[in-house]
Amino acid sequence: MAEHTHPPLFLTNTLTRKKEEFIPLAPPHVGLYVCGPTVYSDVHLGNVRTFLSFDTLFRWLTYLGYKVRYVRNITDVGHLVGDVDEGEDKIAKRARLEQLEPMEVVQKYTNGFHDVMRTFNILPPSIEPTATAHLIEQIAMVERIIAKGFAYEANGSVYFDVPAYAQHHAYGELSGRRIDELVANTRDTEGQDEKRSPLDFALWKRADKNHLMHWPSPWGEGFPGWHLECSVMSTKYLGRTFDIHGGGMDLKFPHHECEIAQSVAADGEAPVRYWVHGNMLTVNGRKMAKSEGNGFTPEELITGDHKLLDRGYSPMTVRFFMLQSHYASTLDFSNEALQAAERGLQKLMAAWDTLERLKPAPPAGEAYDVAALEKACVAAMNDDINTPVMIAALFDGVRAINSANDGRAAFSADDLARLRTLFQAMVFDVLGLKREAEKQGDDLSHGLMNVVLGLRADAKAKKDFAASDLIRDRLAALGITVKDGKEGTTWERN
Ligand SMILES: [Zn+2]
Repeated sequence: MAEHTHPPLFLTNTLTRKKEEFIPLAPPHVGLYVCGPTVYSDVHLGNVRTFLSFDTLFRWLTYLGYKVRYVRNITDVGHLVGDVDEGEDKIAKRARLEQLEPMEVVQKYTNGFHDVMRTFNILPPSIEPTATAHLIEQIAMVERIIAKGFAYEANGSVYFDVPAYAQHHAYGELSGRRIDELVANTRDTEGQDEKRSPLDFALWKRADKNHLMHWPSPWGEGFPGWHLECSVMSTKYLGRTFDIHGGGMDLKFPHHECEIAQSVAADGEAPVRYWVHGNMLTVNGRKMAKSEGNGFTPEELITGDHKLLDRGYSPMTVRFFMLQSHYASTLDFSNEALQAAERGLQKLMAAWDTLERLKPAPPAGEAYDVAALEKACVAAMNDDINTPVMIAALFDGVRAINSANDGRAAFSADDLARLRTLFQAMVFDVLGLKREAEKQGDDLSHGLMNVVLGLRADAKAKKDFAASDLIRDRLAALGITVKDGKEGTTWERN
């Protein structure tokens, strides 16, 4: 689909706090960078929501006809425990706990992360760079920042000089923080003897002799600060200034603020044109956190093996549930909400099956306006990726499909083809939903069932009830229940 046939896309830019028209730097190419996981423990549901939100943005940009280079990194070093850059390296800490090599930990949780992404049908990025594979570039960037006078070496570590930077540039612009407030609110004391200001953050840290992951540098053995890798990898693959940078809201400060400062200090250019941030997950109205005992894993959500869950929910139910709220709104997990999403998803999938079986007929009254439905779907997505509004529009289409199935309405051959194309694009390509095997069978059984139920519908239409009942009974003997309802004919494996 060519981009010029669609009205413009608007995105909420955290930098300006406004919904802005998205104009790529070099269309039809779009550069998208999203902060990936730190691979020292299992990915949690809040992360899943973030990656799912940007998966939807990636899918939508692709639908609009853009050629998207989507970079999502793997943080396999340097993300430290405690207040951002102080304390023990999380990966090294976990390695000691589990008696594993650090890179073994990295591999284990990278594999786990990929499994979870596949489970929720979150597409892989175009490039998935790792921090450890970009140490040369990180060291080079630190040297550029030092050369510009915005960083200093102290005792084998290198710190970014925030006050020096703030004299020339707007530090705090993205997160809306002010330097004086930041100074007043800084509590951590570690490394303060080395830092000139408590606001300064580490670009490079000296490794003590117990530190497991370290590399040689012009300042001695050490490892990079966490913010550095994203500045390096985003600009290396997308250019010094690129289109969209995404991440969870919790990364706005200090991580993204520091990314901007590093790039501006090193190369004199703001790296990102549109900053997009996804919101958090809550459980029964409370923030999801391990300390609250309400932080279940993706696996627990699927198996239902957690005290807060009545039962398990399928990955596509969870995906559909997450898409029913806007990415920038908080989303509250509850059993009721998940069950409602499950029913909604079943209805949507049943309507798709019905749509595949429907035959064209001359409309009795006024024809259903498929073009208006398509326009509504596109408009919703172009309005800051408003998936809940797009889904509501699709359900208008679901009602029309079910009416046609009941014989209360009909579609012309053209409208039917257009409606199928639209549902295929929105449901499967853009929302990224897919058929789930469990009760409904694989794609082949689906195709076969559509043929069989189509023949049965024909028999019924010809009032050959003996034939239609025979088909139903033979299917029942195979353990397949066929239900004729207002919402169309559905089937289920017992
Ligand atoms: Zn990052």
